[in-house]
Amino acid sequence: MKLNLSKTDYLLYRECPKNAWYKIHRPNIYSQSELPEFKKSIVETGNEVELVARKLFPTGILIERRDIKGQEATQKYLSKKHEILFQPIFVKDGCLAAIDVLKFDPKTKSYSIYEIKSTSGVDKKNHYHDVAFQVNLLRKCDLTINKAYIIHLNSEYVRSGELDIAQLFKVIDISNEVESVADSVATESAEALKYLSRDSEPDGYCCCIYKGRSRHCSTFQHANPEVPEYSVHDIARIGNSKAKLKELIDNNIFHLDKIPAHIKLTGIQQSQVDRYVLNEVLIEKEKIVEELKTLTFPLYFLDYETFPAAIPRFNGFSPYHQIPFQYSIHILKSADSQLIHREFLCVAPDDPSKSFAGVLQKDIGESGSIIVWHKGFECGRNDEIATRLPETKVFVDSLKERIYDLEDIFRKQYCIHRDFRGGTSIKRVLSALVPELSYKELKIQGGGDAADTWNKIVTGSFTEAEKEKAINDLKTYCGLDTYAMYSIWCVFHKFLIK
Ligand code: SF4
Repeated sequence: MKLNLSKTDYLLYRECPKNAWYKIHRPNIYSQSELPEFKKSIVETGNEVELVARKLFPTGILIERRDIKGQEATQKYLSKKHEILFQPIFVKDGCLAAIDVLKFDPKTKSYSIYEIKSTSGVDKKNHYHDVAFQVNLLRKCDLTINKAYIIHLNSEYVRSGELDIAQLFKVIDISNEVESVADSVATESAEALKYLSRDSEPDGYCCCIYKGRSRHCSTFQHANPEVPEYSVHDIARIGNSKAKLKELIDNNIFHLDKIPAHIKLTGIQQSQVDRYVLNEVLIEKEKIVEELKTLTFPLYFLDYETFPAAIPRFNGFSPYHQIPFQYSIHILKSADSQLIHREFLCVAPDDPSKSFAGVLQKDIGESGSIIVWHKGFECGRNDEIATRLPETKVFVDSLKERIYDLEDIFRKQYCIHRDFRGGTSIKRVLSALVPELSYKELKIQGGGDAADTWNKIVTGSFTEAEKEKAINDLKTYCGLDTYAMYSIWCVFHKFLIK
């Protein structure tokens, strides 16, 4: 197969050659798990940041097409010595890349290239190689490249009034670093082109077989059919116990019930394996009762949803500060009272922080335990609200003393179920302990999906009907998060009254 190696595929090859091969030759396998909404939104975020960063170069001309017409347009503007081009496209010797910003210096007759990133810093592992691939290609096309830069978001920037584009971004000269890797990138991209051009599927095992489950890509099952769906890769933090995992794999031990006694797992890992082998649930009733006794009624099961805007939308926000747009609370005044539900969702295009804090203050009262899952998230958002809105500080600080993290019961291993697979996410816990409740049928599957859905609502990407449905989807998702906490609490509350 004749292939033009794109910069994207080269970078993917650097992460995993096999996965890059699947992307090109077996897209049906590569894309087995469709990109979740939040991953699509990462791409959209990159596009949004690039659009804003282009304002640093007011005279730039955009080459819109990516095909042969785009290459011709690029050559046309190069011959006219146009100073700034956005996305000029180059193809040479089997390599292909579009350059975010190409700047011509008429005095030296040389070019500078700028790569725009939606990150808050330079990623030394990837960005130098990314830009070196482009520099090598441009030199093959007979351009003299003088300087190479990364433009990234400035996390110290705080919006006040109109966006200050010059302050929002940092422009970092990485010319020396790019030169230092340029030769090895040339060698590596030639190898990548050869590897990815082959028609036959690369044989041999996936090197991820020596890594924990979270490191496997969606093609793992295809390339490693002998590995069961629940395998030693699912043992909690087994990726950190490299020697143990290697010994298991090298001896073809994939099932948890086949792990030999001499392999010493950590306490957490061994508990998970024991629960799996015995097919039983471990519940430390006394310890759980002690935890629950620390709670005081009314109980407020609380969950926030937020959107991390790369480009700050409101005063007081920095890049990627979270906009708190939604919460759900289930309230239980006493053990035998009716469950009450309250919620907040702002879909106006203004900063929701003030109304979020104000409505929350009314809903959450002055006393009673606030039960959350993974309290670092809610506490972090509370602190940010207090910083932006000092008048809320007293209220927001008062929440800290009332917060109880229900996930702690599982982190402390007072309850272990084989189906937790060593994890403590609310989804896993809920489906194991309260199987009649599930997120599976929900349109929104996680916080990232919720953030993306809200963003589409407030940026007018939906029709009225879609917007109404999206609002309902958000309410259903966030409401289930807090109802799930209540349901898990009920499972344990039984021990208190026995
Ligand atoms: S599972 Fe790992 S080694 Fe296998 S293709 Fe995916 S990323 Fe590559």
